[in-house]
Amino acid sequence: MQIHVQRRPTLDTGIKTVRNVLRYTIGRGCLRDLHEILSRARNQPDDYAVIFIDEYFQAETGVLHEIQVQPTDLIIFVSTDEEPTTEYVDTLVHNLRSQRNRNPCVIVGMGGGITMDVAKAVSNLLTNPGKAEDYQGWDLVKKPGIYKVAVPTVSGTGAEATRTCVLTNKKKKLKLGMNSDFTVYDQIVMDPDLTATVPRNQYFYSGMDAYIHCIESAAGSYRNAIGDAYSRETINLCRQIFLGGDMMTPENREKMMVASYLGGCAIATSYVGLVHPFSAGLSVVLSLHHCVANCIALNALEEFYPKEVGEFRLMAKRQGVDIPAKVCHGLDERQMEDLFAATIIHEKPLTNALGDGYRKVLSSEKVSSIFRRM
Ligand code: ZN
Repeated sequence: MQIHVQRRPTLDTGIKTVRNVLRYTIGRGCLRDLHEILSRARNQPDDYAVIFIDEYFQAETGVLHEIQVQPTDLIIFVSTDEEPTTEYVDTLVHNLRSQRNRNPCVIVGMGGGITMDVAKAVSNLLTNPGKAEDYQGWDLVKKPGIYKVAVPTVSGTGAEATRTCVLTNKKKKLKLGMNSDFTVYDQIVMDPDLTATVPRNQYFYSGMDAYIHCIESAAGSYRNAIGDAYSRETINLCRQIFLGGDMMTPENREKMMVASYLGGCAIATSYVGLVHPFSAGLSVVLSLHHCVANCIALNALEEFYPKEVGEFRLMAKRQGVDIPAKVCHGLDERQMEDLFAATIIHEKPLTNALGDGYRKVLSSEKVSSIFRRM
C-alpha cells in the first residue's frame, strides 16, 4: 500500500535562538593550526588538554606528531567498534576525575561522529553534576562545558556542527542525545587530507548521513528558513559529490566536509524525519552503526521518500557501494517489539514527518513490515 504524505501546515520548531560553532578553519593541511589553538588555551603551567582520538590513529603517528601533544596532555583513544553508550561516557568522566584533580582547559574530539560525540558529552559532564543519562533530552545541560575543538576525520554526521551528542542508554533501550546549546563545539578544524584513508563504504555511508539529515528536514513540517537554505546546499553538494565522478577526489572530500558541516547546521534548526527513528531502532536492537543503519532504513522507506530513495540508490550504484540487505531477516517477536519501541519513541521527528497522528500511520504491524524489508 502506498502512503502519500499530505502537505501539512508549517510547524514552529520552538528553536528561537540558534547557536552555531564559534570558529572554524577549512582547507588542506589546516590540521597544523590545532597546535596553535591548543597553545592559546593553555594559560597556566598545569593547564592540560584532553584529546579524544579515533583508535585508528594509534598507528598513524604522523598525525599525533603534527598536533605536538604536550607531556601533560591526556590522549584517549576512542574505540569505534560500538556506538557510544551513557555508561562508557560515565566511565571516561570517572577515570578523568580520578587521574587529575582539575579539569582540562580544552577538549579535542578528533575522529568521526562517535569520537566527536564522546568529546562533547565528556566536556558537558565535567562541568555539570550527575550522569550522562541525566542529560539525554532537550536543554537539560545547565552550565557550559569545557572549551572544545572538533577535528573531523570522517564527514557526514555533522557532529562537528550539531547541538547534540548521541548516546545509547542500554538500560533504558534508548538512543538520545544531550540536545543543548552547550553541546555545540567552540571551534572546528576541517582538513580534507584527514579523510583520504577512510574505506570507501564507510565514506559513502557517512556522507549519506548529511544527505539524509537534509532530505528528512526538507520534507518535514517543522521549518526554519535558514535551516532550509542549509539543507538545500547540503543536498546540492551531495549530488555533486556522489552523482559525478569519484566521490573521494581531494576536491570532493573538501566538499564533503562542507556538506557535513552545513548538514549539521541544518539539523540544529530543525528535526529529522522517518529515517533516523528507524535507524535508531536498528542501532539499539541490532547494534548497527548509525550511518550504515540510516542507509538500510532509507532503502526501506521508499513509500515515504520515493524520489529521494531513487536518487540515493543511484548514488550508491555510481560509487559502487552496496547497501546491506536482510539485516532483519529471522528476528523473533521480542526483537520486533524492541525495534518498534526504539522507533516510535522519537516523537518530534515522527511528528515532523507525519504530523500528530503518526501513531495511526505507524502501527506496530506497519513498523514491523517496514523492518522486515530491511
Ligand atoms: Zn544522522
